[in-house]
Amino acid sequence: MADPESCVFCKIVGGEIPAIVVAESDRALAFRDLNPQAPTHVLVITRDHHTDVGALARADPAALADLVALAARVAADEGLADASAGGHRLVFNTGAGAGQSVFHVHGHVLGGRPMRWPPG
Ligand code: 5GP
Ligand code: ZN
Repeated sequence: MADPESCVFCKIVGGEIPAIVVAESDRALAFRDLNPQAPTHVLVITRDHHTDVGALARADPAALADLVALAARVAADEGLADASAGGHRLVFNTGAGAGQSVFHVHGHVLGGRPMRWPPG
């Protein structure tokens, strides 16, 4: 399930699967989720394949910092940078039991509606 050859997000990075890209950096890509759960729902991924956020943190902390910075830029571009602008949530589902279905690290940038706590 973490095989880069069959990974849907590696295919988006490679241009084999289309996506609505909203921002990018040398090391990360941000595109709209196919099945949005909020008015803003953008996925931020590394160009390189890593299974989840913990694996990325261990293998390449600078790439994780770049991913989070790109997520913050997306939130700002969407008008969700901070509390006065409504805020946003950055979520990394990790493991199938926590809702991870694509095993290529991705942060969900969610906003544009009230966010409940605790999450479901
Ligand atoms: P997870 O459940 O792993 O945390 O999140 C995976 C997300 O990827 C889901 O929200 C799902 O809608 C999204 N997704 C899955 N396949 C594609 C795709 O081919 N294109 C886009 N844009 N999003 C996808
Ligand atoms: Zn991948």
